[in-house]
Amino acid sequence: MNFAFQIGRIAGIPVRLHLTFLLIIPWVAYIFGQVSEPVFGKLYGFGAVPEPTKWIYSLAFAILLFACVGLHELGHSFIARRYGIAIRSITLYLFGGVASMEEIPRDPRMELQMAVAGPLVSGLLGLILIVLYTQIAPLMGEEHPFSIFLWTLGVINLILMGFNLLPAFPMDGGRVLRAWFATWMPYVTATRRAAAIGKIFALMMTMLGLFSLNILVLIVGLFIYMGASEEERVTTIDVSLEGIRVKNIMSFDPRTVGSEMTLRQLMEIMFQEKHRGYPVVDGSVLTGIVTITDLLRVPEDQRESTTVEQVMTRTIYVIGPEDEASAAMKKMTAQSIRRLPVLKDNRLVGIISREDLVRAIELCSERGT
Ligand SMILES: [Zn+2]
Repeated sequence: MNFAFQIGRIAGIPVRLHLTFLLIIPWVAYIFGQVSEPVFGKLYGFGAVPEPTKWIYSLAFAILLFACVGLHELGHSFIARRYGIAIRSITLYLFGGVASMEEIPRDPRMELQMAVAGPLVSGLLGLILIVLYTQIAPLMGEEHPFSIFLWTLGVINLILMGFNLLPAFPMDGGRVLRAWFATWMPYVTATRRAAAIGKIFALMMTMLGLFSLNILVLIVGLFIYMGASEEERVTTIDVSLEGIRVKNIMSFDPRTVGSEMTLRQLMEIMFQEKHRGYPVVDGSVLTGIVTITDLLRVPEDQRESTTVEQVMTRTIYVIGPEDEASAAMKKMTAQSIRRLPVLKDNRLVGIISREDLVRAIELCSERGT
């Protein structure tokens, strides 16, 4: 369960709300209902607006603020789509949006344009709102809640732009930095540099959050740190496996078992051959996969009378011998499985395991550094 539900589609891209998001809306509304400070001499926040009007405005503000975050993400997505990268969805979380795309482009110019697009949208929204404010405020008065609304939403969009442009990878500014590094150094090195700088920023933010007892800053710092580590890891794996195909590292002619075999027989085979899982083949058709976990679920005294067919997994994810090894990695990670049968023309020709991939990564990790 991933605690997110779809609210609609924009230009064919599913837009989803994360459950944390439902908590943040009233919270943001509450905060902006308290704040009232002059920013460049104009009122920012609805603290000075009388109740209950202020709550209506600050709630509308909170909702529109996250709509603006959604537009920021759409900005990234549109550029990505123009380059033919598929966008799976946009999810709005507690701290902003995440556009989930098939892959992040390895081409620095493409990544640069994509990274800049989001902050550009925020900046434009900010400018439009502030221009609107300069038109509306003289008519309605600067103290009018609607004037305050335009000004506050405009200013926060500019803050969003500035914050996202911090060179703290994996935030947008950090991606710009990586793209720039990648124009004169290998991609993995560029990612490591950008991630290192991102981690320094994250640590500084975490410290700042700790000392000023600002939980929000603390959490954002931790998020950036985790994000930087994760992207660094994924990129290293991707680049190490570049150009390696499944057939280069898979085991050929894997040992298979029949579905009518008893679990006791299976256990003996596992002991002898020290494999943790086997494809189940009947005739020449792959019908399932059975692993040591399936076996251990059955109590010992029942293994004599239970067959492989009763415990095997029937939903089989497979891969082709000509596919990229990194695709096998992605499939295993996405499905949390440890091995994939390799099929060619519907015939089982091999099996690829996580161990095969890890070995390949270790052997090739010096590449691209
Ligand atoms: Zn962004």
